[in-house]
Amino acid sequence: MIEEKSVNSDTPEITQTETSDNKKSDLKVSPFKTYVEEIINSSQHLSKRHVHPRMQKMFEMGGMNAVFTRADGQYLWDSDGNRFLDLLSGGGVFILGRNNKSINEAIRSTLELDIPNLSIVNASILGGALAEQLLELAGPSFSKVLFGNSGTESTDLCARFARVVTRRRRFLYMEGGFHGRTYAAASLCGWDEMKEGMQPFMPTTTPIQPNNIAQLKRELSMGDVAAVFVEPIQGMTGTVMTPDYLREMENLCARYGTLMVADEVQTGLGRGGSWFRTVEYGVRPSMITVSKILSGGQVPVSAVLLSQEVYDTVYAKFQSGPNYFSTFAENNLAMTAGLATLKELKRINAPKCAREISAKLRAGVEEIGTRYDVIDHVRGDGLMLAIYFRDSESLGLKIQQQIMGFADKASFGAAVNVDLYKNHRIIVQVPGPGTNAIKILPPAILTDEDINYFLGALEDTIASFYDARTGPIASISKGFFASAAKSIKKVIPEGMLPAALAEKTEKKN
Ligand code: PMP
Repeated sequence: MIEEKSVNSDTPEITQTETSDNKKSDLKVSPFKTYVEEIINSSQHLSKRHVHPRMQKMFEMGGMNAVFTRADGQYLWDSDGNRFLDLLSGGGVFILGRNNKSINEAIRSTLELDIPNLSIVNASILGGALAEQLLELAGPSFSKVLFGNSGTESTDLCARFARVVTRRRRFLYMEGGFHGRTYAAASLCGWDEMKEGMQPFMPTTTPIQPNNIAQLKRELSMGDVAAVFVEPIQGMTGTVMTPDYLREMENLCARYGTLMVADEVQTGLGRGGSWFRTVEYGVRPSMITVSKILSGGQVPVSAVLLSQEVYDTVYAKFQSGPNYFSTFAENNLAMTAGLATLKELKRINAPKCAREISAKLRAGVEEIGTRYDVIDHVRGDGLMLAIYFRDSESLGLKIQQQIMGFADKASFGAAVNVDLYKNHRIIVQVPGPGTNAIKILPPAILTDEDINYFLGALEDTIASFYDARTGPIASISKGFFASAAKSIKKVIPEGMLPAALAEKTEKKN
């Protein structure tokens, strides 16, 4: 007997079949596609209620509340059919664009093959193939690959292995650096704001300044450092490590028995303008981490590339086999997506695309900067660029910037971010906490038309901020304004608030 269960918009449509003979219950889920199509316009409230409401609130307060229902390449469409240009690429993963046809096709094909997955006692069928391709790109200094599921997991693995190899405890990390949010990775985070309330972290970590060779030498020469962690381009600041610094790091690490860990989670596989930025400079880190781009964004994945020496030391004993294992590492879908992604990245020559698009974006922004003094400089390289702002010499705008700065040093960048989103449907981001900048991680398929659209929009936004009626304060939504105004009121004495601000604060309160 077949019993139809009515469709509840919050749950998958389920048809329950019960045979009267054996009373065995057999659940058949109707095509999942239908279910998703049904709920895509109506289920946002569930995520907002059950999954990280605070984060959603932050975006909504900035007026960033579009509901995206379709994605293709560098574009997202909201439920009203409006197209957004996505310059964040899901945090850097969709370098080939969203819903890339070849990657999706490869994933579908693998599912249809019914091949074994996660068989544990066998070597992974697809993992070896993907590892071989990664090693080919990274060159002869590396000979082994361990897969994982996220960037932070790869950081953790490197920290543990560095301790095993060196039998030392201390780690160096960069101010402004970021390596993930698990315990070890968060301990190596160069932002105090991001560690607040979570202490104590690993006690044996020391922050150092990017590109400061003397300081690096001083720390390493103490002879107690297990590893130094470095992003060739910092994702949170756009700071670029110079080739000299990275080369000297390799030399000093070799001299003082420290491992060099290159975190290429974000820069690797093209975004930084080369397959691996460290390798491009002739630098041989002991370990390289890679993640974001590796599966084209469709399936979580990460990988650590190891030198033979590190591998041999970590796995010196027969029993050391399980020194690293993760249930879903080398899962078929991630490995398939990885193989399909590498093929596409090579086909389009992603590093070259990254360099070319980067040059056009940088030149365009710098040219705008010659006309608008709020643009300070562009940092970063490849498809990792941050546009830094400063206070204008134009009095009206300067006053607004200073007022906003009381609330949050990054608030001018936030206003640019919000205006680009609300008035031009472009998605960018404020990078690190308190960093007065916007950051973009565009895909390598960005067209000249997209680039010109972004540059035109940026100029439009910035130009409008020089007009008192459409300045940066007006750009930020009421919600953000109210909380910013509260902070401003704390630092500006009663009666000294600018009239417009006092009025708005009053109304809101
Ligand atoms: N390292 C770097 C350089 C990153 O940019 C990130 C993520 N932004 C991570 C590590 C952590 O990766 P995940 O979010 O996948 O854990």
